[in-house]
Amino acid sequence: NNLANQIAAGEVVERPASVVKELVENSLDAGADRIQVAIEEGGIRSIHVSDNGQGMDREDALRAFERHATSKIRRERDLFSIRSLGFRGEALPSIASVSRLTLTTSAGEGEAAACVRMDGGKSTAVEDAVRSQGTEVLVEDLFFNTPARLKYLKTVNTEVSHVADSMGRLALAHPRVSILLTHNGRELFRTPGDGKLLHVVHALYGKQVARQAMSIVAEDMDFSVTGMIIRPEITRSNRSYISTVINGRFIRNISIVQAVLRAYDTLLPIGRYPITVLSIEMDPKLVDVNVHPAKLEVRLSKEKELCRLIEEEVRQLFRRQVL
Ligand code: ADP
Ligand code: MG
Repeated sequence: NNLANQIAAGEVVERPASVVKELVENSLDAGADRIQVAIEEGGIRSIHVSDNGQGMDREDALRAFERHATSKIRRERDLFSIRSLGFRGEALPSIASVSRLTLTTSAGEGEAAACVRMDGGKSTAVEDAVRSQGTEVLVEDLFFNTPARLKYLKTVNTEVSHVADSMGRLALAHPRVSILLTHNGRELFRTPGDGKLLHVVHALYGKQVARQAMSIVAEDMDFSVTGMIIRPEITRSNRSYISTVINGRFIRNISIVQAVLRAYDTLLPIGRYPITVLSIEMDPKLVDVNVHPAKLEVRLSKEKELCRLIEEEVRQLFRRQVL
């Protein structure tokens, strides 16, 4: 069984960033609106995620490490209609199988908190603990028992930038949640969680960018698009600065990126792209979920219509700012 977990870990847990992503998605699913992530040495030494979500009682805390013990909806094709980000019950057992993990959780005031310790997938201790409502997970010595995987990791800086990227995506998709990310005690970013996308953009990209952002608001019968865009001349950026969130999930879609770029009808200055955040609401039935959920690519029916809507709106914004 632990072998099965380690094999699953091969898919779910590629590097520290994937651990952080899974843990933070669990915090989001638990309804947290404050999430703190602290990593040490690129997350290779340790990853600590704490939240103020609903927490778990002792029994659930133990059950969480059983494979496929999800408390969430199980049907994969409902991916874009369900609210929860996790649904397979694989992440915690997988992460636990390749690290030393401590989970401390409390389901609320008056409830006893529990602390579960796992070492390479084996439960070593379950103790009483004290904490306010919510959950914290400490993952230490990632891949200590899978040396091949450990060797495959890149430099600390590379791992940090992967963590920051994936946290940035989650922050953009969840402006109502306050997210703090630190590395070796140094703050990388902190979003206020006040629901304002502009404040997330500020936290991730800085004041200069936030100040120049233009709001996007567009709608047709099928789509409602909000977001913001910054002219490419203003700041260094690459394609990955064009972010798309569909129904609260960060996705990748090449056609949408191209629609944004088409809207800028002059040649792009070298090394500069329009930093863009698009948050799109649509009927989940229009999202083709016949794709691997861990990969972010999705296909959309009515993609052409959506791209046209985005292109027109962005083109108008660019023109207006030039005038
Ligand atoms: P999944 O997210 O797919 O359900 P996980 O392995 O990530 O599977 O988590 C297993 C279960 O543990 C979740 O379904 C949830 O019930 C519980 N859980 C994990 N993390 C948290 C958390 N931060 N707060 C509350 N419950 C959690
Ligand atoms: Mg999960």
